[in-house]
Amino acid sequence: MRKYGAEIAIGIVPVLIAFLIFIGQNVVPILMLGVLGFVVVYAARGRGKLTAMSSQNRSAEAKSTPLTFDQIGGQERAKQELVEALDFLVHQEKIAKLGIRPLKGILLSGPPGTGKTLLAKAAAQYTDSIYLAASGSEFVEMYVGVGAGRVRDLFKEARTKANKAKKSSAVIFIDEIEVIGGKRDGGQQREYDQTLNQLLTEMDGIYANESPRILLIAATNRKEMLDSALLRPGRFDRHIGVDLPDKKGRLHILNIHAKNRPIDENVVLDRIAKESFGFSGAQLESVMNEAAIYAMRESSDKIGENHLSMAIDKVMMGEKTDREATKEERERIALHELGHAIMAEVVRPGSVSQVALSPRGQALGYVRHNPQQDQYLYTKPFLNGQIMIALGGAAAEEMFYGGRSTGSRGDFEQSMSIVKTLVESGLTDLGIIDASMITKEAYANINREILDELMLQTKATLETKREIFTQSLETLLREETLSGDEFRSLFKSNSAA
Ligand code: ATP
Repeated sequence: MRKYGAEIAIGIVPVLIAFLIFIGQNVVPILMLGVLGFVVVYAARGRGKLTAMSSQNRSAEAKSTPLTFDQIGGQERAKQELVEALDFLVHQEKIAKLGIRPLKGILLSGPPGTGKTLLAKAAAQYTDSIYLAASGSEFVEMYVGVGAGRVRDLFKEARTKANKAKKSSAVIFIDEIEVIGGKRDGGQQREYDQTLNQLLTEMDGIYANESPRILLIAATNRKEMLDSALLRPGRFDRHIGVDLPDKKGRLHILNIHAKNRPIDENVVLDRIAKESFGFSGAQLESVMNEAAIYAMRESSDKIGENHLSMAIDKVMMGEKTDREATKEERERIALHELGHAIMAEVVRPGSVSQVALSPRGQALGYVRHNPQQDQYLYTKPFLNGQIMIALGGAAAEEMFYGGRSTGSRGDFEQSMSIVKTLVESGLTDLGIIDASMITKEAYANINREILDELMLQTKATLETKREIFTQSLETLLREETLSGDEFRSLFKSNSAA
């Protein structure tokens, strides 16, 4: 009967309209309402179908290029934890014998571009499962119930596809889970609540003995936003942190992406890994890609270290812009950047990797720093040093021009953010406090105290290095860039004098 519902409706509707006209009713408003309803329902459904199609395409793509854990760099701990969890799915009989409840959901949390999607794809490959992907934002709709319908369809599609492919399991990956899995407030967001409820219902409907078995892998970079119902045992109860890679991890990722690219034999990827501190896997992939583009622009058939170095700058600060500065501006920018660079060499000798006068992204000039090693804990002297490096630009402008320009805005933002870290880590005279315990005024006072004191120290230090400014300025204006080594040789000859 349901099967022929549409046909019956098509038959009944014209008869009904003819009858209404016959008895003298005005059918125009009814017809208009009908058309409007049709458009709304089909627009919503159509989008649903489009989404399903896009995820089909994605899964087809995943199928054609199986991705294994070997192709994911760094993340050794995350990979190990994930494989351990997946073994529950692989050895189902053993698990059932011991009465262990089936694993339903794994939550991958960490910054963007660290390889969460890759891990989910590799998990599907490892467990010989069908892979289906969706993003939280695909479930967001104006009409109540449409998102929930899509969740239902996604699970149905996973089961159908796994059956068709004769697989015993399916992995559903939902990226940006926080979009639908955010804390429920029971108020305005009724559509989101329904979508989340549907997801919870589907997860509760996964049983140990069903075939195909469904495993849900979700990714987020805002775990704290998730509703506790999602995180409770029996749902997403395996949490795996996917952090930014350390130097070893970065080298591993660079090696993976260097594999199919013609890298010059003189390139030392270890150095590139060192210079790309704080980069995610996606940014490192981008470095390799941009370096290849630079090589192509220069008609070089090999990717050299200079291409990689330029690519790091591009990924870090954006493409070079062709904003033309006046002669006076260029001089001010050069002195400003030298202020940063000199302070950096004083505070952390050997750390300057490049001083540049070329505009890039929002910056008119920049100093690239080269951390000696990855660091995760910072002391008060270290953070004070960072503030002094950030203030070096403004201090130099004051020294040579008697005042600052708008060019220090970003430096001050950075300095204040470090002060915030100092306050929140209990490293100031305020003692161990929570930021909410102090008034805005008290916060402003401590901020001013710290920054004024460090600004005085920065200026006093730079005053002793006036010679280095005047000597490097000419070269920097002429060459536009000074490599770390060139800058240090000037710095050392002057410091020795
Ligand atoms: P998002 O949170 O933004 O969705 P994500 O953590 O899911 O990001 P992926 O989509 O897995 O990140 O990574 C994007 C791209 O970055 C990958 O296709 C790959 O080229 C590269 N990449 C990221 N992390 C790694 C890694 N650990 N090893 C190798 N390549 C990586």
